[in-house]
Amino acid sequence: MNLKKSKEIYQESKKYIPGGVNSPVRAFNSVGMNPIFINRGEGSRLYDEDGNEYIDFICSWGPLIFGHSNKDILSDIDTVIGRGTSYGMPTAIELEMAKLITEISPSVEMVRMVNSGTEATMSAIRLARGYTKRDKIVKFEGCYHGHSDSLLVKAGSGALTFSVPTSPGVTEGTSKDTLVCTYNDLDSVRKVFEEMGNDIAAIIVEPVAGNMGVVPPIKGFLQGLRDITKEYGALLIFDEVITGFRLSAGGAQQYYGVNSDLTCYGKIIGGGLPVGAYGGKREIMNMVSPTGPVYQAGTLSGNPLAMYMGYKTLKNLKGKNDVYKSLEKKAIYLEKGLNEIIDKLKLDATVNRAGGMISMFFARGPIEKYVDVMKCDTEKYAVFFREMVSRGVLLAPSQFEGIFISQAHSFEDLDNMLKAAHESLSVVKDS
Ligand SMILES: *Cc1c(COP(=O)(O)O)cnc(C)c1O
Repeated sequence: MNLKKSKEIYQESKKYIPGGVNSPVRAFNSVGMNPIFINRGEGSRLYDEDGNEYIDFICSWGPLIFGHSNKDILSDIDTVIGRGTSYGMPTAIELEMAKLITEISPSVEMVRMVNSGTEATMSAIRLARGYTKRDKIVKFEGCYHGHSDSLLVKAGSGALTFSVPTSPGVTEGTSKDTLVCTYNDLDSVRKVFEEMGNDIAAIIVEPVAGNMGVVPPIKGFLQGLRDITKEYGALLIFDEVITGFRLSAGGAQQYYGVNSDLTCYGKIIGGGLPVGAYGGKREIMNMVSPTGPVYQAGTLSGNPLAMYMGYKTLKNLKGKNDVYKSLEKKAIYLEKGLNEIIDKLKLDATVNRAGGMISMFFARGPIEKYVDVMKCDTEKYAVFFREMVSRGVLLAPSQFEGIFISQAHSFEDLDNMLKAAHESLSVVKDS
């Protein structure tokens, strides 16, 4: 396959942009090939600068639940742009958007719009600290919540209450206030709370982990977090940046029937434009400036163009059980198909699925915890990824991401994907 133009743009981009990309995973570093530069998207397809066509299972990392350039969602975009692109003043569509989110989300009574998932989680944590007047937060190893300083930490070796920065530039002072527990292990959470529960402002969790591949919560895990936070007067923050509007319209909290105090959104909420949001109980949200003392602001927050795209997307998801049934049906179809191939080829690989969220790990299951995920053979994934690309199927360029399915994917797309997977996994087997 010809990737000449992509290569040229990449070589030139590297001179002006660190690594040639504006978000590291796009550099394709972990799959051992040069990045592909995209020219346009339509439905389930992406077209690169060299004119190659791909069935896209990245879907902009989640936002495009209706696929690329969906005609219905874009129907009035010209009119909206014609009225100007930003005012720095409040608009009626922000009210419509806030109403819609609170109607859809089981636990959100008030909501503040921001510009990314990172901003949503960062602001929710500040709010939780301001509300509880406590400094410490709990996160889980393998969960990703964007790149704000407090959340770029991992468990240190030794005692489980010590955490260390995962990036230079994050100070030890910041990282020491973030305690790192084990996803799907309530005992690790109980231990930390027994030791310093009265200093903990909040637990932040991806209710279905989506950033170490898809790892669903084991039975009782989310409810356990709800119980522990209640007992100690800490807040429970669901980072629903991926799960929100994807697992069900009301996200993981609706899907699993466990409510959070604060919820963070991103990705789907902007329908492909840069949007995030955090919301929750009225009493807590009223602590946010200007009603309350916790400061948070944004020049482009609630941007009319972004609100329009988000509103149209959410409007098409609200109460649409058929959308979620269909996404799940497609995920089950892939799960079944991939498992058949894995069995046939006797590969050490595992498929995890929650609703319409799915991923494949190159490791023997069950994959429930971060340590299980870490056993994956990332070299095998790299071979698999490259083989799939050469057959016109674009997966996430990392083992530790989900396979994103949209409403635009047809069963024919899925059959093509499975056919490519069979051939590609046969190559992996022999590699
Ligand atoms: C993508 C993601 C974020 C960060 O969102 P950005 O818009 O990339 O800043 C936060 N949390 C989760 C669960 C995510 O998947």
